[in-house]
Amino acid sequence: MDAGEPFVYRPGAGCADCPFAAVCPALHRTPGLLGVQNRRRPRRSWSATSARNHAICPARDYGRRQRLPVDQGVERRLAAERGRAVHRYLEDRHHAATCPCDARISVDWVPLGFSLTEEDRALGTTLLRHHAVVCPVRHTRSSADLRVEPNLVFDDTDADTVVIAKPDLLYHDGTTWVWREVKTSASARRGTRPWLEQYPQLALATILAARDDFGLGFGRVELEVLRPGGADLYTLDPRTPEVRQHAETVVRDSFGQWHDDDRFLPTPGLHCADCEMSQWCSARATPGKET
Ligand code: SF4
Ligand SMILES: [Zn+2]
Repeated sequence: MDAGEPFVYRPGAGCADCPFAAVCPALHRTPGLLGVQNRRRPRRSWSATSARNHAICPARDYGRRQRLPVDQGVERRLAAERGRAVHRYLEDRHHAATCPCDARISVDWVPLGFSLTEEDRALGTTLLRHHAVVCPVRHTRSSADLRVEPNLVFDDTDADTVVIAKPDLLYHDGTTWVWREVKTSASARRGTRPWLEQYPQLALATILAARDDFGLGFGRVELEVLRPGGADLYTLDPRTPEVRQHAETVVRDSFGQWHDDDRFLPTPGLHCADCEMSQWCSARATPGKET
């Protein structure tokens, strides 16, 4: 940094180890966000991704958090790769947004660095067309009304934990800020599991929107699900007591299990076939081997 250049604050996972965190003006303090009061555990960072991985297999979450190299063959499997390509396309498109997304998708829409089969490219085109119908840029007036994949960092001082979240998009609809998550699916069928349980990030977003005392100003949370047959747009209203209580239960339970875990033991099963950490894991389930 040049002499005279102002300091820049970049909150992130490193805030968990920063000796100045307690007085940092850039770190939002959100006591009670995670619903756990316990400062006797080691101070760490936590995200909804950790929650999802930990629920499947604690060792998998541990491996990811230690930044062990992932198995690219698993990480870049076709469905995941298609979903990531769609997300990257939308991210780039929204960064430069002066008008809503268009249903006319270029044949070479796939962003650089992604490799899709012809079939996945065609499905991606269909999903992006459906997105255009519900593109949130329809509601914004200027680039100041949009934040694309922002890094949000909070310090839950009750749980002595730094919380990391990365919404797909925050946008201002003219009245309030809205948190929008986008998911893609190749299936026309809707699952039966509640969205808040399927995606803990939605539960976290709902609590952040519900707590006026956090002063973040989110009005609502939206989930956009892109399917071959169309786009489903769900709204989660944090002012509805049942929605808020459900979100609090999901976050408290998933965070609590992670927070109390000292051993991060492997739980082998069918999911090992989709585990990007399996190359490091001697407990992994392999076909024909009893677990
Ligand atoms: S291979 Fe299976 S048991 Fe091992 S970390 Fe991955 S999911 Fe867990
Ligand atoms: Zn859009």
